[in-house]
Amino acid sequence: MCNGKRSAYEALDQFFHAYLVERDLEKTLSLLTEDLYSLGAGAEEVAVSQAEFAALLREQFSALPGPIHYQISRYHEKERAPGLWDCLCQMTTTLAADGGRVIEFAARFTASLQERDGRLLIASLHMSEASSNQAAGAFFPLRFADCAAQALEAPAQLGLVSLLGELLPGGVIGAYLEEGFPFYAVNDTLLDMLGYTHEEFLAATGGLVSNAVHVDDRPILDSLFSQLAFRKGRYELEYRMRKKDGDYLWVYETGKRIVTPEGRDAAICLVSDMTERVRQQELLLREARLDPLTGVYNRRGGEEQIARALREDLPWMFLLLDIDFFKQVNDLYGHQEGDRLLCFVARHIKAGFRSGDIILRLGGDEFGVFIQPCTGPEVIRQRLEEMGRQYHAEIQARYPLSGSSLSFGGVYGSGPAAFSALYQEADLLLYGSKQHGRGRYQLRPLDRNRPALRGRTTRPAISGPQE
Ligand code: GH3
Ligand code: MG
Repeated sequence: MCNGKRSAYEALDQFFHAYLVERDLEKTLSLLTEDLYSLGAGAEEVAVSQAEFAALLREQFSALPGPIHYQISRYHEKERAPGLWDCLCQMTTTLAADGGRVIEFAARFTASLQERDGRLLIASLHMSEASSNQAAGAFFPLRFADCAAQALEAPAQLGLVSLLGELLPGGVIGAYLEEGFPFYAVNDTLLDMLGYTHEEFLAATGGLVSNAVHVDDRPILDSLFSQLAFRKGRYELEYRMRKKDGDYLWVYETGKRIVTPEGRDAAICLVSDMTERVRQQELLLREARLDPLTGVYNRRGGEEQIARALREDLPWMFLLLDIDFFKQVNDLYGHQEGDRLLCFVARHIKAGFRSGDIILRLGGDEFGVFIQPCTGPEVIRQRLEEMGRQYHAEIQARYPLSGSSLSFGGVYGSGPAAFSALYQEADLLLYGSKQHGRGRYQLRPLDRNRPALRGRTTRPAISGPQE
C-alpha cells in the first residue's frame, strides 16, 4: 500500500508534468490505467481507453510540441474507497506564443486515481472551462434563458423583441401606466386587426390606449389597478377596441408590469381578438331568453329587457294580451293548430308595433308588449282596434267554431318603475276585459300607490272604465 494522500497529489502532478511540460507520450501513458476515461474541454476530446487518449495526445503534441507550464491551485481530494481517490483542482497554464506573447488559460480538473500494483494511476480525467456565457450568480439550466438574453447587446434585444412581436398571432401593446395610458409600442398585427396604418392609429388615438377603447369600457382599464394579480405583476382584461371602420373588436389582454429604463411604470401586453367567441356566447344567451315556439322573448328574457328599459326616463306602456277561448282552438282544431295560432299572434303583435318595442310570451296563450317611448294611449287604442279586426278575420277564415278573440290590459306611465308593478296592474285590467265579455282592452295610467298583490288568485273584480 502506498501513502495515498501524498501519492494522489504527486501522481497527478507527475502526470501533468509529463503531459504538459515534458510532452512525453510514453511517460504520460504510463501514468494512466488501460481503461482510462477522459473528457477534455473540446467537443471531440473524448477518450474511453488509453489507446484513444494516446491518439488525442499525438495530435496535440504535433500541433503544440513546446512545453506548457502549469500551476495547480485549490486542490481537494477524497478517498472514496480503499485505493480509490477523487481529486479536484484548478489549473492555470501558460504557453509562450509567437512574438513573445504568453497565452494564459484557466481550467478545472477532476480526476480519479486507482491503486494498481502499489502505484496510483489515473483512471478518469475531466477538464472543463468556466463558461463566459454564464453570469456570476446564475445557474444552469434554470436561469440559462435569462442569462443568454441579458448577454445580448441592447440593439439585438430590441431586434428580438420586435421580431417576436411580428411573429405573435395577436397584437402587442406597450403602454405607460399614466393618465390615458400613453402608448410606447404597438405591433403591426394590432394595427392590422384594427385596420389602421401606424400614422392613422396615432392620429385617431392621440397616442393614448384609452382613446382606442370603447367609451363604456374605459373604466375597465382603470380597474386594472385594483386587480390583486396586477399588484403581483400580471393582469388580464377584456374590453372592446374601436376599429377604423367604426366597428368594435372584443379583445382579451394579458399583460405584465414593467419599469422602463428611465424609471416609468409601464405594462407590456398581448391582445387577442375574441369577437367571434363573444358573438357565439351572446347568441347562446339570446337563445336562452327566447321562446322556442314563437321566437319572441320568453318571460325571463322579456322581463330583463323591460327592467333595463324602465330605468330610462321615458314614457312607456305595458300591454298584457291573452287569447280568448284558446282552449277551443286546441280542442276543436288540434294542438298543432293551437301552436300555429300562437305563432300567428306573435307575428301579428310584431307587425302591429315598432321593431324596438319588446314582445314576450309570458306562458300559455299570454303575451306582453312593452312600448317605449309611448306617445300616449290614443295611438295604442287605434292600433288595438285594428289588431282585433285583423285577428277576427283570421279566426273567421281558419277557426270559426272557436269564437276566439283577443283581450288586453294595458298600463302606462313615465320614468322608472318596477316590472312587477306594471305586470300586476296590467293583469288586473286584462282580467277586467275578460270579465266584461272578452275581445276588449282596458288601458289605465299606473297607480303607483297600489299595494303589491300576491299572485293572480287574489285578483279583485274590476270596476274601472271600459274603453
Ligand atoms: P280564456 O278565454 O279565459 O283565456 O280561456 P282559454 O280558453 O284561452 O284558456 P286559458 O287562457 O285559461 O288557457 C290557455 C290554454 O292554452 C291552456 C293550455 O291547454 C293551452 N296551451 C298552453 N300552452 C300551449 C302551447 O304551447 N300550445 C298549445 N297548442 N296550447 C297551449
Ligand atoms: Mg286564454
